[in-house]
Amino acid sequence: MKILVINCGSSSLKYQLIDMETEKVLAKGNCEKIGLPDAFHKHKTADGKEAVYNNPLPTHLEAVNSVLASLTDKEVGVISSLDEIDAIGHRIVQGGSIFKKSTIIDDKVTEQIEDLATLAPLHNKAHALGIRMCHEALPNVPMVAVFDTSFHQTMPEEAYMYGLPYEMCQEYKIRRYGAHGTSHKFVSQKAIEMLGKGPEGTKIIVCHLGNGSSITAVKDGKSVDTSMGLTPLDGLMMGTRCGSIDPAIIPYIIKNCGVKVEDLNNFMNKKCGVQGISGVSSDFRDLEEAAEKGNKRAQLALDMFVYQVRKFIGSYIAALNGVDAIVFTAGIGENDCEVRRHVMEGLNNLGAEIDVEKNKVRGQQVDITGPNSKIKVFVIPTNEELMIAKETMALVK
Ligand code: AMP
Repeated sequence: MKILVINCGSSSLKYQLIDMETEKVLAKGNCEKIGLPDAFHKHKTADGKEAVYNNPLPTHLEAVNSVLASLTDKEVGVISSLDEIDAIGHRIVQGGSIFKKSTIIDDKVTEQIEDLATLAPLHNKAHALGIRMCHEALPNVPMVAVFDTSFHQTMPEEAYMYGLPYEMCQEYKIRRYGAHGTSHKFVSQKAIEMLGKGPEGTKIIVCHLGNGSSITAVKDGKSVDTSMGLTPLDGLMMGTRCGSIDPAIIPYIIKNCGVKVEDLNNFMNKKCGVQGISGVSSDFRDLEEAAEKGNKRAQLALDMFVYQVRKFIGSYIAALNGVDAIVFTAGIGENDCEVRRHVMEGLNNLGAEIDVEKNKVRGQQVDITGPNSKIKVFVIPTNEELMIAKETMALVK
């Protein structure tokens, strides 16, 4: 079975074609700047063939058609006919409280995804558009929606409610939804396998640390709390996002710092985080290089990030009343052994230690637990596309 995984943004479309027998990515690529004059499409195959197309992509339909043409292309194609695509899995950012699981897409589901754009304006509209365009291009291919929020739908009320008037929360659907759920699910399942147990009775903390970062407490294989909230702005300070701040800072900066209400979302999402603190970069490789050369603000940004990650882990150990495994994943979590070392340095009193030598890994699934540690510590590369493909296959089979 071959599954096409689509991640549609407002001006971009990323894809992977996965062979489910081998779990191998046959081809992948991205269309960028859809709707703009300098739009392009980059395509790459498993055996290293590459192509860049500069044909106009005025809408997502042309982007979908360009992707399908590349997959069947004589030179860089990986399938001889579009009939070889058995299903399409769509990544959807926001499923609200409606979608507790992945679901087969029909007209009603597409409309519901579009309606949830009130909670994720940038993403859900683009997802609905991508679904419609794929359906237009391949009307007989079944499609599945896989939601970033579904995995967190098992959170108890006390974890997902905010201290706002109850009626307001109900009417306007204000609650913690979380994000990165597909990654947290994939990684926690792998961690349970590494523990050599079934999910029942396990307590795991997954640290998804990338450009966007979130931490999830997973009990019995289910999410019971997570750091992202109504939107992916909440929780940890990130590459360019501020994370949790005193809510009173918002009216304060509007009144005193010249930040306009209509610019707030952009400001908090794009101008803050480690980029805002360091003034150097949102990329941890740049921050570490600058800190090594003596840049104090870059060092401060790194210290703040590590401190916040450690605080979340500590609070989730309390929320879970213990923990069997702490797991690091995503760009920083998988690759940055210094961040992992510093986070874990502050947890030795709680019985969690890493083996400093084993920790010197990048992008591999490794047990980095120290010899005297009571808590397991793992590095597990995430694979959201494979998880989307697996969920899709399970539903269409
Ligand atoms: P993601 O959003 O999961 O793709 O993660 C992207 C982030 O991972 C980048 O912004 C970098 O900060 C970080 N990253 C990637 N590779 C490395 C590395 N080798 N060392 C440190 N940080 C890295």
